[in-house]
Amino acid sequence: MEKSIVGVDIGGTTVKIGIIDNDGNILDKWAIHTNRTNSGEFIVSDIWKSLDERLAKNAIPKKTIEGIGIGAPGFIDNDTGYVFEAVNIGWRNMPLSDELRSISGLPVFVANDANAAVMGENWKGAGGNVKNLVALTLGTGVGGGIIVNGDILNGESGMAGEIGHTTVEPDGILCNCGRRGCLETIASATGMVRQAKMKTKQHPESRLASRLESSGNITAKDIFELADAGDVPCREIIAYTADVLGLAISNASTLINPSKVLIGGGVSSAGDVFIKLIENAFRRYALTRVSDICELKLAQLGNDAGIIGAAFLVKHKLHNLKF
Ligand SMILES: [Zn+2]
Repeated sequence: MEKSIVGVDIGGTTVKIGIIDNDGNILDKWAIHTNRTNSGEFIVSDIWKSLDERLAKNAIPKKTIEGIGIGAPGFIDNDTGYVFEAVNIGWRNMPLSDELRSISGLPVFVANDANAAVMGENWKGAGGNVKNLVALTLGTGVGGGIIVNGDILNGESGMAGEIGHTTVEPDGILCNCGRRGCLETIASATGMVRQAKMKTKQHPESRLASRLESSGNITAKDIFELADAGDVPCREIIAYTADVLGLAISNASTLINPSKVLIGGGVSSAGDVFIKLIENAFRRYALTRVSDICELKLAQLGNDAGIIGAAFLVKHKLHNLKF
């Protein structure tokens, strides 16, 4: 009987679960609420209960499931599937892989959620199974992941690829990580909104300032909309953000020499103009031979990248599959 794989993507509000075939196609997918009660102690049993029901409903015998791959937030030991800390769901010293393995009876493998998404994009999305790739996700924060020589780069303590915490303004504002001037403080949705609030003080006459005053808040989407409508401060924010992103991508690319750089996440959906500005900055900063070989593309899979990449992780761990 044809084997399939389960991919799980654990987030702060939902857990996405997918049953995925050997070629990376989604056979079924759904989401459950992330129950953060009692430091998230019910999450693992919730996942198995929901999965067990779904397998029964689809008449998929458990023995045809090769394993469960998980993308989880926080600091993770990639060899043991142990989560040291995942602040946004309340886990601390959580033996995720062991717990789910013991209740499901299936092999379980865990990766950082950003790395799982990168594997998914390279397997079935915009990556196209390349051997060297840099990926950024521009959302509430800035996530990153790197594939080198066909393998995800974890580093000595799982911290490799954290592009969002590379320093772009040494005296910049305080980041969530406790340091100053990380890429994330500029290029995340939160960072762009912070820039916008600063700008309104310098440009009280701007449409940006009146938008903030009338609605009481401003979003990254507002900034792109107002820039399109000709608002100068918003255009400056977008130009600066794109420039900083191009610089960070150039530096990462000089180290990795990738054939592709993928940009995903909510902020990247702002459109072609923004991506073009990032690309221009990247090409301006990068070494010619690094730039010439490298294509900059939008990620394609959206929310499915995590579950597809988690399924790839199972194939990688069980069959040593590489890109
Ligand atoms: Zn940081």
